[in-house]
Amino acid sequence: MILPVHTYGDAILREETKEVGGDSPELQELINNMMDTMHGAAGIGLAAPQVGRTERLFVVDLGPLVDEEDPETLEWPEQPMVFINPEITEESDDEIEFEEGCLSIPDLREYVARPEAIKVVYLDRTLRRQEIVAGDMLARVIQHEYDHLDGVLFIDRISAFRRRLLRRRLKDMSEGLVEADYPLAIDVA
Ligand code: ZN
Repeated sequence: MILPVHTYGDAILREETKEVGGDSPELQELINNMMDTMHGAAGIGLAAPQVGRTERLFVVDLGPLVDEEDPETLEWPEQPMVFINPEITEESDDEIEFEEGCLSIPDLREYVARPEAIKVVYLDRTLRRQEIVAGDMLARVIQHEYDHLDGVLFIDRISAFRRRLLRRRLKDMSEGLVEADYPLAIDVA
C-alpha cells in the first residue's frame, strides 16, 4: 500500500526515532508499505519518518541503477535493502560532493558533501544482524536515510549561502505550498 509522504515543515521529520524492539506482522507490513511508497514515487530510499512513523528503519532500492558496465554497481548487495536499527560505525576521511534530492522536499536538488565510504551495522528485514562496507552511491543513500532517523535533512548540510538562496522555496513548502506526482501528507503548522 502506498502511504502519503510527509513534507518539509512537518514536525515528524524532526522527531527522534525509536529502536525497533522485535519482529511483528505490523513491522513487516510497514516495510512492505514503505517499499510500495518508495517505488511508487520512483525513489531510491525512504525512511520511516517520511511516512509519519518513528521507527528506526529505512529502505533502499538501487536496483534501477545497477549497470552491467559499472563494476561498482555489481558489488552492491541484493536490492532492495531494509535497514532496521542501523548504526554507522565507521566513516572514511575522504568526503565527496554529490547532488541529492528527497521525496519529502520535492523538486529541490543540492550538492551535499559526505564521507565517501562507511561501515554500517544493521538488522535486515528478518532481523538478522548484517554489517557492510558501502561506497559510492550506496554510501550516499544510506547516509541520507540515516540522517532522517535523527531528524536531519539534506538541506541542513548545505552551505548557509545556498540555504539563503532557497529560503523562499523552503518557506513556501513549510507552509504547505508543495506538489508532487505521488501522494503527500501535508501537515504543517
Ligand atoms: Zn530524504
